[in-house]
This record gives sequence, C-alpha cells and structure tokens, in this order.
Amino acid sequence: MTQIAERFRPFGTTIFTEMTMLANKHNAVNLSQGFPDFDGPELGKLAAQRGISEGHNQYAPLAGLPILKDAIARWSSDYNGIAYDPTSEITVTSGCTEAIASAFMGLVNPGDEVILFEPYYDSYRACLAMSGATAKFVTIRPTESGFGFDPDELKAAFSNRTRAVLVNTPHNPTGMVMNEQQLTLIADLCKKHDAIVFSDEVYERLTYDGCKHRSIATIDGMRERTVIMSSLGKTFSLTGWKIGWTLAPAALTAGVRSAHQFVTFSVPGPLQLGAAALLNDARDEADRLRDQFQQTREVLAEALSELGFGVHNPQGAYFIMAEHQAISSRLGLQTDVDLCRWLPEHAGVAAIPPSGFYMNPADGAGFVRFAFCKQMGTIDEAIKRLRSALTQ
Ligand code: GLN
Repeated sequence: MTQIAERFRPFGTTIFTEMTMLANKHNAVNLSQGFPDFDGPELGKLAAQRGISEGHNQYAPLAGLPILKDAIARWSSDYNGIAYDPTSEITVTSGCTEAIASAFMGLVNPGDEVILFEPYYDSYRACLAMSGATAKFVTIRPTESGFGFDPDELKAAFSNRTRAVLVNTPHNPTGMVMNEQQLTLIADLCKKHDAIVFSDEVYERLTYDGCKHRSIATIDGMRERTVIMSSLGKTFSLTGWKIGWTLAPAALTAGVRSAHQFVTFSVPGPLQLGAAALLNDARDEADRLRDQFQQTREVLAEALSELGFGVHNPQGAYFIMAEHQAISSRLGLQTDVDLCRWLPEHAGVAAIPPSGFYMNPADGAGFVRFAFCKQMGTIDEAIKRLRSALTQ
C-alpha cells in the first residue's frame, strides 16, 4: 500500500529522472533530460566560490540578495524592455521549478481553473494539484511552419472560473516561439476573463535563425497581470545551481512570496552572487552558448531527418520533438515509451517519451524528444550510434 499522498499518486517518478537512470544503466549518450554536458562560465563559478570563502553562508534574505535582484532588473529591462522594482517586484527562487510551485500555491485557489498548453513541462500539473486547481488543456500541434495551436481551442478553454493561463515560450518540448499574434490573442482573452498569466521564460535567450523571444508582459495591459518566471540554468548552462526568479507587480509578487517563504524560505547566497556576476558581466557567454546550440540543433536535426524521423525545426529552447512512427514501425515498436525504452539498450542513446506531457497520452505517443544542449562531440557520437542501430 503506497504511503504517497493522494495528490501526487498520479504523477509517479518524473520521466527526466527515469530516463537519465536508464541512460546511465546502459552507458548511453544522454539526450533525454535537458542538461548540458559541460560547465557554465568561469566568471560565475569564481564569484560563487568567493561568496563561500568570504562568508556569505547564512540565510540570504527571503526575496533574494539585493545585488542579484538589481542584476535581474537590469537584465529584464535590457532584454525584455520592461522595468521591475527589485524591492517589491522581484523574487529569487530555487530554480524556475520552485517559482512555478510558489506562484501557483501563492496565487491560485482550490477550484480555480488554469489553462495549460500541452505538451507541458510535467511540474505544471503536479504543482496545480498541490494548489487544488483544475487544469484545462490546449494542444500544440505540428503545422506547416513548425508548431502552433488553434485559437478556437484556446477560446473554448476559458470559463468564468479561469484564474490563469500558463504560457511557456520558447516552448519545451516543441521549440515553438510564440509570435505577437499568438501572444496578443492570449492577452485579449486574459483581459476579457480577468485572468492572470504565469509566463515560463527559462529559454528566453535560446532562440535561433534570427527568431526573437518576446515576453507576454510587454503586450499592452499585460504587465499588471503577468508573473514572469525565469532562471539562470538554461541561459548559462548551470542547471544544477537552481537559481530562478519571478518578476511580477507587487500584488502578484506578494502571493509568490507568501508561498516561497514556506517552501524554501531563501536561496543559497554564494550561488546568488555567482548568478549576479553572470547576469551583469557574462552576456557574451550567453550569446556564445546560443550559437553553440544553434549548431548542435542543425547537425542533430539533419541527421534525424536523414534517419527517417519527422523533424520540425525548433525556433527556440534546446529540444527536437520528432515524429518517430516510420522508424518505430520498422523496429516493430509502437509508442514513444516503447522507443525510448528500446533506444538506450539497443542504440546507446537516450531520449524522452513526451506522452506524459499530455492529458491524453495517446496525443504524444507519436513523438520523441531529443535534447541538443550538448557538446558537438556528444551529438556526433549520438548520431553515429543512431545510424548504426537504425540503418540496415
Ligand atoms: N527542464 C528539463 C527538461 O525538460 C528537466 C528538468 C528536470 O529534470 N526536472 O529536460
């Protein structure tokens, strides 16, 4: 008999942990969980080390160190063109995952409805369960030019109980970057229904082919009803630091902080110092990483297409959501889960089955997600292994 609380029983162990364990077991090239196979910039590591040796080892302030909140404010105004007050509008969290949890718990009531675009990052649903809210779904599907969603499906998802919409752009796992028209539609519907937006922007600096990220908070009338949630991890390849933040008007920030104080209370000071150094002084490193991922994306996308996967080139983030039926049927396999269990053992490569990111898993069963946030040598090795296992 399980001891796990009822609210978490539907979720099991996150697929990212499951697939990384499977990759390790078979010594596979791990293109499943999205983390870089190299370290973040020296400048940040040195600043964090200095933080430890210079004695920043007791609790940091609940909302974050002023030096980091100031750096986040500058970052936001330089890249998003929106100003936030570090004292009342910025909160440092333990990665964006904690920002999501604290924002939901602090701002959503039991019985509220929250609209999620699927496929969704798995923590959104689990955190909604923690806050007692109901999820409504809008499906992102392949289009002629990548991925998109049906405006009518979005309109139909709203009701008089809609509290919020979760926007994630650039999007994990499809790589869709929402354009102005899509953002404006969401904004109009939120204003009409008096709903707020939780905007997960962790891939804000990772867009390709000249495509640009735009925050929904920049749309007219949206700053006052948006909680931006972002982090350092993807931008600087430091996913293990778990430094994230929220940007929101004071009234919404109060909700985030009311939960954050009881979830983690505060975030490690030395890592906040490292993060501040990077946001202030390592912007060229962020650009360099983006250029690196642009190349690994191209090489992996081309190889996957050659192998027979249906590739939709991602405009952002660091994943390729490919259609796998042609390959799987050759191998006598059916679903994404079948393929992702087969790949590590027989091809020596691990990937993520995305069906768990859908309300109805069958909607995602035809896709497989490969991460390209790796060194080129790692991508080359994965391609070599896939070629030898998948071409007869
Ligand atoms: N965001 C990462 C991904 O999509 C995983 C985060 C995690 O493992 N919880 O791969």
